[in-house]
Amino acid sequence: MASMAMDLHCDTLMKLAKNGDLERKPAMVTLEGLQSGGVGLQCFADFVPTGLFPGFLKGPLSRRVYRKHYRRYQKMLAFHSGTLFPVLTVEDLERAGKDGKIGVLLTIEDGGVMGSRLEHVKDYYDMGVRLVTLTWNHANPIGYPNSPDPEQMKKGLTDYGREVVRQMERLGMVVDVSHVSDGVFWDVAAMAEKPFLASHSNSRAMCAHPRNMTDQMIRSLADKGGVMGLNLAPDFLAEGSRVSRVEDMVRHILHIRKVGGSDVLALGSDFDGISGTFEISGPQDWPKLEQALRAAGLTEAELEKMWWSNSHRVLHAVLPRAVSIPQR
Ligand SMILES: [Zn+2]
Repeated sequence: MASMAMDLHCDTLMKLAKNGDLERKPAMVTLEGLQSGGVGLQCFADFVPTGLFPGFLKGPLSRRVYRKHYRRYQKMLAFHSGTLFPVLTVEDLERAGKDGKIGVLLTIEDGGVMGSRLEHVKDYYDMGVRLVTLTWNHANPIGYPNSPDPEQMKKGLTDYGREVVRQMERLGMVVDVSHVSDGVFWDVAAMAEKPFLASHSNSRAMCAHPRNMTDQMIRSLADKGGVMGLNLAPDFLAEGSRVSRVEDMVRHILHIRKVGGSDVLALGSDFDGISGTFEISGPQDWPKLEQALRAAGLTEAELEKMWWSNSHRVLHAVLPRAVSIPQR
């Protein structure tokens, strides 16, 4: 039997048609795919790589790009209002996946878009953002990104970044350490009072990419009650690969389970943010991955945890309780 799925990361908002119709443009994530793959909650990232063009995407312009994606997110919710609904509270989380409704959780990829003033964190919270990936692949006011350079990799949170983490926990936003430096990971692990997660990262022992997590980090994440979502990007699964293979996914999951236990496993596809050839080409293929993991020895209870309960546990511990839907 297929488990209900929660996917912690996709970049589909970038590919969404202007009217918000999830079926109109060729994307990996479609409404039909979500439904047939048994997805109960899908995270959608508002992706603004603030450091990609130095000086260009900083400040007001980055916020304009954010708002462009945000309007598409709103249009998507309106267009598919019979099926999709925004997850803003613990109560919403409990409705996700029930009665044919799919919960949608808005995330920011690159917390740099929030600028360098703490009050902005609340502005994004008020827009419905409930998870922030602290950095993308460039430094921002919060901290430093992953890097092949060991000196860069040591750099951690800024003082302001610490305040952001504290403020996010206070408000009810999930801290996401995918993309950050090892230094930022360890700073977050040391200060976090709530579970945090790596929404779309794999094992560095299985594939030596700085975007992936060391065994020590996986153990620490597990100790804090966090999760890591399996990323389907070919080069995070196998070094230099252009093909995203199920057998590599299984290899990573078996290793992560051995190191961190089955409570740390989760899904974080990165659909529509990755390129290559895919054996799992959209949410409709989740049952195929589940079958492969079952054949590799994961129990039904472990599969259910990886698909749903582990991520649910983190969101349940962090999201706020019953607030009214923000005015748009
Ligand atoms: Zn990413």
